[in-house]
Amino acid sequence: CKNSSPTGPIDTTMCDYETVESVNDRLYANLHELVRMPFFKYFQVDLYRECPFWSDDGSCSDPGCAITTVDESEIPEKWRASALSRLEGSKIDDRHELPGCYYRDSDFCFLDDNTEGDYYDLSLIPERYTGYAGADAARVWRTIYEENCFGLSELTLMAGPNPGLVSLPESMSEAFRTESGEVGQCLEKRVYYKVISGLHASISTHICQEHLNQTTGEWAPNLQCFINRVASHPERLQYIYFNTVLLLRAVARIGPYLSAFDYCSTGNHEDDAETLSMLSNVISIAQNAGRFDETVLFRGENANILKEEFKAHFRNVTRIMDCVGCDKCRLWGKIQTTGVATALKILFELDEKALDPATNHNLLQRSEVVALINTLHRFSESLEAVEGFREMWKATSATE
Ligand code: FAD
Repeated sequence: CKNSSPTGPIDTTMCDYETVESVNDRLYANLHELVRMPFFKYFQVDLYRECPFWSDDGSCSDPGCAITTVDESEIPEKWRASALSRLEGSKIDDRHELPGCYYRDSDFCFLDDNTEGDYYDLSLIPERYTGYAGADAARVWRTIYEENCFGLSELTLMAGPNPGLVSLPESMSEAFRTESGEVGQCLEKRVYYKVISGLHASISTHICQEHLNQTTGEWAPNLQCFINRVASHPERLQYIYFNTVLLLRAVARIGPYLSAFDYCSTGNHEDDAETLSMLSNVISIAQNAGRFDETVLFRGENANILKEEFKAHFRNVTRIMDCVGCDKCRLWGKIQTTGVATALKILFELDEKALDPATNHNLLQRSEVVALINTLHRFSESLEAVEGFREMWKATSATE
């Protein structure tokens, strides 16, 4: 815990911890308001799709796992499923369809096809302690980490009921079962691991920040929880910063496109102006702190094969979210894996020409933009929480 405040360059990025910390208060303040705006708070998703990996999903019966939906009539008309599917269905030609969802060749995730699924008001659903734990939660995490196997020629694409899921030889899964093993891995594998471990650490930070004291029934930050799950493994904390920089770089890169998006929900353009003003603050912070050199990845021999594998693995991670046995955790799991997948797409799939909003204004779906910004908000919130835990730790040490 003594070294829980990292310093210097963040590995694989061109940014340092101090830079991220110096902008985070302002970033968080803007994001926190932004995600309350109508455009960013409503999310439609099918939370009840079959788990493609196992049949017993270990459903969480704890009331903390439950969430409520929003009636479609509350959603501004232009974002309702019928309007979106009319728009999107006609323009996407390289779609690979699965029941209820699809992916395009450029996607790092499975996307909802907007014909099924409920609407959720994300501003009313905090990511926090739910009570979902034990063998089922551990199995989901283990399966996600097992996707960190890149075998080039050894990869096989499964046909059958779940086409698109990558199956891996058992021996390879075993080889990557440990947490440490970065030695000998290529840069892309390390990036993959950092993304997942950072996401896991960010979720853990939220669980510890809004923790339910089972004895008193009160919600409060739990320092010991944070020490056990995150701070005693310094690399996990570092990967929260890593993900933040990756997301910031994606937001900076897609900035002109985001600025040209139509955020208007009411018809009088007030929401649009307010949303755009906060968003432009976020974009300018991202341009300053989002220093990640995406061009060092997926280069050289086999670059394209490696990228396709990376994509297939990450798509699988978004599918594994259907196996999370707690509704609230599944919702945030889906949003954040979609958000990170959107960032990866922006960084590794789209060239400057594709990013031009004038020539390619259907580049991202609304759900991808919403997921990207809400995911950055979650990571920025985790860094805020980390600051609070550092203060708590200092106060505790001073009294000892
Ligand atoms: P877990 O967090 O389950 O971790 C399992 C094992 O993974 C650990 O023993 C450790 O070896 C390793 N590990 C842990 N952290 C990392 C890391 N950062 N990097 C690498 N390895 C690591 N619970 C809630 O209360 N609220 C939520 O919103 C919530 N959302 C979830 C979303 C998803 C997608 C999943 C899969 C689970 C979610 N959970 C949530 C459950 C939560 O993440 C834990 O699984 C649960 O609290 C039990 O924690 P644990 O201490 O047993 O270890």
